[in-house]
Amino acid sequence: MDLEFSPLPRGDWVLVTGAMANTLNKYQPVRLIGNPIILPKAGKPSRYQEERHHNRVHNFAYKVFTIKKKRPELTTRIHAQISESVSFSVDHNTSTLTHSRIHKYLHADGKAPCVVFWNGNTDKVLIEKLGTKHVKKYLDITTVHHPNNNNYDLVLQDMSRDKQVISKIPIGHYIKKNGGTLNLLECHTLICGQIHEGVVDCHDPVTDVILTKCIFNYIMKTVKPSTIYSYCSGKPIKARGRKKTRKEKREKKK
Ligand SMILES: [Zn+2]
Repeated sequence: MDLEFSPLPRGDWVLVTGAMANTLNKYQPVRLIGNPIILPKAGKPSRYQEERHHNRVHNFAYKVFTIKKKRPELTTRIHAQISESVSFSVDHNTSTLTHSRIHKYLHADGKAPCVVFWNGNTDKVLIEKLGTKHVKKYLDITTVHHPNNNNYDLVLQDMSRDKQVISKIPIGHYIKKNGGTLNLLECHTLICGQIHEGVVDCHDPVTDVILTKCIFNYIMKTVKPSTIYSYCSGKPIKARGRKKTRKEKREKKK
């Protein structure tokens, strides 16, 4: 799952769009679109009302993305997404950006789901603010940088309080200007590099979900799927990371 949002003053958020894909629905993520939702720091979610919220969103997104991070393209993107969502909700009565649609999708098979994000700390906070309950586990995929050799590990982590690392897989060498963690596209380039159907550019939620899913499948192929399944069903794990190759086992014995 991926959400696109913007912070607002006083700790509020505006949820603009997003996308979800379940394990059954392999290559067709569902785009969340409709009138954006204001998620206040305290209190209930409310709908974005253009006149009342537009200036707040604009000024704040401008300050955060343009001045602090020097990334004006993000302000433009958030505004394009808000305009798209608002015009969609005027034209159609089939909004998917609603709590009930998200809830229905997540529980389509009648079971409590495990939700996987890419660097999803804020996504998790916002999905919980929407009132989504009965999620079994929230899992986060991120990367860890080793500054001495610019190598990276791909990490799958439980987002609950103890932040247990479920798997840590070395994925190789990548040189970034300022070091630090890889973004979604960089990580995907390193482990897959295919151009998947439906991919446009990063920060389009459907694209982000397709790439996140590809990276998650890579983790599933590399570590035993049963490790992840048993973890998600509530059993503690001992073995972490990928299976050792024969060569590594031999070297360990020496
Ligand atoms: Zn891929």
